[in-house]
Amino acid sequence: MTTRLLEGKIIAITGASSGIGQASAFVFAGHGAKLVLADVNEQDGEAAARKIRDSGGDAAFVRADVSDARAVEALVARAVERHGRLDGAFNNAGIDGAPGTVAECSQENWDRTLAVNLTGVFLCMKHELAQMLKQGGGAIVNNASVAGLIGVAALPAYVAAKHGVVGLTKAAALEVATQGIRVNAVCPGPIRTPMMDHALRAGLVKEEDMLSMEPMRRLGSPEEVAEAAAFLLSDRASFMTGHAMAVDGGWAAW
Ligand code: NAD
Repeated sequence: MTTRLLEGKIIAITGASSGIGQASAFVFAGHGAKLVLADVNEQDGEAAARKIRDSGGDAAFVRADVSDARAVEALVARAVERHGRLDGAFNNAGIDGAPGTVAECSQENWDRTLAVNLTGVFLCMKHELAQMLKQGGGAIVNNASVAGLIGVAALPAYVAAKHGVVGLTKAAALEVATQGIRVNAVCPGPIRTPMMDHALRAGLVKEEDMLSMEPMRRLGSPEEVAEAAAFLLSDRASFMTGHAMAVDGGWAAW
């Protein structure tokens, strides 16, 4: 028998229309969670929510751009309106930004990458934590990256934002550690998602280069990240907070 890690928990997922976020929606639903899915891509987000409902689960979709403070506030309010509380959140929405060195990075690319990948996580946590403090408990998982633990050349805004997510995770975890709220991060290595497929197609990265860097000699699946996030959101991880957990086939262990 498989253990349902998130039975009855109300969980919000950002970036839920594609890749790791969408896989998490299906994995968390399989673990018994009731979901509020958010993304800027309405069509695929609505379709994911419908698929979960059609198979007997509970999921609603809300359009929200995580870099928009009002949209994020409305997203958390919608979850609380629908379910009366928010037990967990997977702050996953992210973009890779344009490739190039620090000298080549435009300010526009820098600003947008930071706005989505770092300010987006800050805005989500700000409103999620306010609700969790009010209700007296909860768990948050932020999606950082191995690029939040180690450097990657020619992706400066992404690497800076993801290191920021790891720092913000630790700072928030310390603030709420005695209040029944845990805050952790997952740090995926290369995962086969539409974001990765785009980078491969555009020639920004070569699959053979990644496989040669990857101790397991394969890319990860979105479900492998989703299961790690489900564990961190669950009561099984009750003594874990402030942790940035690599889900990377050993990449960060080199
Ligand atoms: P993806 O492009 O497949 O999915 C990202 C989703 O986020 C999309 O549905 C997109 O519409 C949504 N999104 C983008 N900007 C948004 C915004 N402003 N507001 C709300 N939603 C927005 O990418 P993915 O590979 O599944 O990446 C998900 C997360 O995992 C990202 O934070 C990414 O940095 C991180 N990550 C991915 C990998 C990888 O190899 N794929 C590795 C490490 C970390």
